[in-house]
Amino acid sequence: MKSFDYAKPATTADAIARGNASGARFIAGGTLLVDLLRLNVEAPDLVIDLNGLPLGEIESSDAGLKIGALVRNTDLAVHPAVVRDYPVLSEALLAGASPQLRNMATLGGNLLQRTRCAYFRDSAIDACNKRKPGSGCAALEGYSRMHAVVGVSPRCIAVHPSDMAVALLALDAVVHTEGPHGSRQIPLADLHTLPGDRPDVETVLEHGEIVTAVTVPKTGFAAHSAYVKVRDRASFAFALVSVAAAVELEGGAVKQARVALGGVGGKPWRCPEVEQALLGQPATRASFERAGTLALRDAAPTPENAFKVELARRMIPRALERAGGAA
Ligand code: SF4
Repeated sequence: MKSFDYAKPATTADAIARGNASGARFIAGGTLLVDLLRLNVEAPDLVIDLNGLPLGEIESSDAGLKIGALVRNTDLAVHPAVVRDYPVLSEALLAGASPQLRNMATLGGNLLQRTRCAYFRDSAIDACNKRKPGSGCAALEGYSRMHAVVGVSPRCIAVHPSDMAVALLALDAVVHTEGPHGSRQIPLADLHTLPGDRPDVETVLEHGEIVTAVTVPKTGFAAHSAYVKVRDRASFAFALVSVAAAVELEGGAVKQARVALGGVGGKPWRCPEVEQALLGQPATRASFERAGTLALRDAAPTPENAFKVELARRMIPRALERAGGAA
């Protein structure tokens, strides 16, 4: 591991000023960055520890939730307001990682976590455009069962690994940031970028910009929501496919719906075509199944991961039913 300097600022302004230096990298829970340092995938000159910043509160009001970027995944998952009013978020958090990792991992780090593509994490392999721009993509001709089926490019087919981000996408969450050019509010749907020609660029954040909080509006569908995840083993495994679903009913018909997928794209993947098809439809298994067939029509899977398309379509009705949508 390359040696680096370490700083622990007490204010957000100080953290941003230090983080603006080239070669600087932020750390919070450390559940990913420490791995990548040990694997020689990341080699910063300066690691800036954010744990001294006052960003660890959860506030619940009639307007919604405000979650500080340093809130630990476990604390968020078991918060009474989250369990009661935003069950999809609690379920997604509890479906991710292990209890030990959830105790350390933070909201901000979870959103910004990097892909688990095995070729990305193995610095002995040369071909990885995300780790080493212009070097190629070993996954295209290699093991791709876990990789993305939508939003892919000829340069990268990595999948975004977060469960929590999929739930927040379904809940219309907004990411609050502070950076060298001031503060911003970014809809979660716009935070992550697709690989395109630049797989090494993963978000719209500037160098030195910090996620400070995420807000989640209180909507008619948030309390009627659920997270369904299919994976190779019962715990501590990344999604093959996951579905975050939320529905609001009126007179037995769907008034509003949200459907987002994990495990299928280079970013958490919203399904507006499914949501549109559900509007005004009776809240029945048959309606949910019909709408589910519309998901991932633009998929471009590899032979190894084509099963994800059918799996997602079958999981969507189940998630909608679990969300409380069955009449
Ligand atoms: Fe690297 Fe992306 Fe290819 Fe994986 S899929 S080897 S992360 S370029």
